[in-house]
Amino acid sequence: MRILVLNSGSSSVKYQLLDMDAGSVLATGLVERIGEPMGAIRHKRFPGSEREEAFAFEQPVPDHTTGLTRVIDLITAAETGVIAGVGEIDGVGHRIVHGGESFSAPTLIDAAVIDGIRAQVPLAPLHNPGGLAGIETALRLLPGVPNVAVFDTAFHQTMPAEAYRYAIPKQLYTDLKIRRYGFHGTSHFYVAKQCAKHLGKPFAETSCVTVHLGNGCSMAAVKNGKCIDTSMGLTPLAGLVMGTRSGDVDPALHAFLSDNKGLTIREIDAILNKQSGLKGMCGHNDMRDIHDRIAEGDQDAELALKVFCRRVTQYIGQYMAVLGGTDAICFTAGIGENDAVVRQLSCATLGSLGAVIDAERNMHAPRGRLAEISAAGSPVKICIIPTNEELEIASQTLEVLRNGKKEE
Ligand code: AMP
Repeated sequence: MRILVLNSGSSSVKYQLLDMDAGSVLATGLVERIGEPMGAIRHKRFPGSEREEAFAFEQPVPDHTTGLTRVIDLITAAETGVIAGVGEIDGVGHRIVHGGESFSAPTLIDAAVIDGIRAQVPLAPLHNPGGLAGIETALRLLPGVPNVAVFDTAFHQTMPAEAYRYAIPKQLYTDLKIRRYGFHGTSHFYVAKQCAKHLGKPFAETSCVTVHLGNGCSMAAVKNGKCIDTSMGLTPLAGLVMGTRSGDVDPALHAFLSDNKGLTIREIDAILNKQSGLKGMCGHNDMRDIHDRIAEGDQDAELALKVFCRRVTQYIGQYMAVLGGTDAICFTAGIGENDAVVRQLSCATLGSLGAVIDAERNMHAPRGRLAEISAAGSPVKICIIPTNEELEIASQTLEVLRNGKKEE
């Protein structure tokens, strides 16, 4: 079975074609700057194998239809492709950012599901329209191929009300569905399952804290295989410090900035989403650059790193407290998988909670595969678990196709 995974943003489409029987990635790539005068396309066939070949193109990509048409050309053409024709694609899995309260599982797409995703646009105005464009284009270009929506919010739908409700007037929840939703759910779910496998426990009996530290950062508390809390909220701005996002701030900040700087709500929102986080504190949003600056004596960079890690520590502690028993803490994504300093600083004081990091193991952990970095005998294991959202989307897509499951 070959599954095409599409992650359609407002101006980009990431794709991966997976051979689920062989367990391999046949092709992967990215179409960027859709709608701008000049678009960019990067494409690889047989990535990570001896036959790997990479291609790059610059050409205008006025809309998603053009972008996806080009993707299909690339994966089917003799010079760049991996399959003879679209007939060899068995299903398409779409990453959809917001499923609201309507979708708590991967869902076979039909007209009603498209309407359901459209109904969530007010909750994700920057993200869901891209996902919808991807779905509508795929349905047109690949007639007869089933499409499945996999929601970033779905894994978190098991949170109890005391975790997802905000202490604001009830009417705001009933009228506008203002509540915590959480994101990165596909990654948290995948990593938590890998953790259970590593520990040799049934997933339904595994409790862990999953720590996704990438461009965006979030954390989830997983109790007996179910998410019971997560750090992102109504939007992906809440919680941990991120590359350009502030994470948690005093909610009175908006009024304060409006009163004292005359900024509009939109301007404040842009500051918190795009000019804050690591970048706002030290001018760099890539953790590798921050380490370089620290080595040169940059104190702003050093403080940004400390603020970032302290927030991670605080959330881990919070989640261990609400879990009341944790098997493991699992670091994942770009920073979580690769940055030993961040892991060390984040876990340094967790020994009193039963999670003892082993500095040597952490510093010398192998790249790109699961590793345990806690000290021997640590009651709570600390692990590095590489995430794979595309594989998880493809697996969930396949499961829906096999079960013919559709959320009502
Ligand atoms: P992701 O969103 O998972 O692709 O993560 C991207 C982020 O991971 C980048 O912005 C970097 O801050 C971080 N990152 C990637 N590689 C490394 C590395 N080797 N060391 C530290 N941080 C890294």
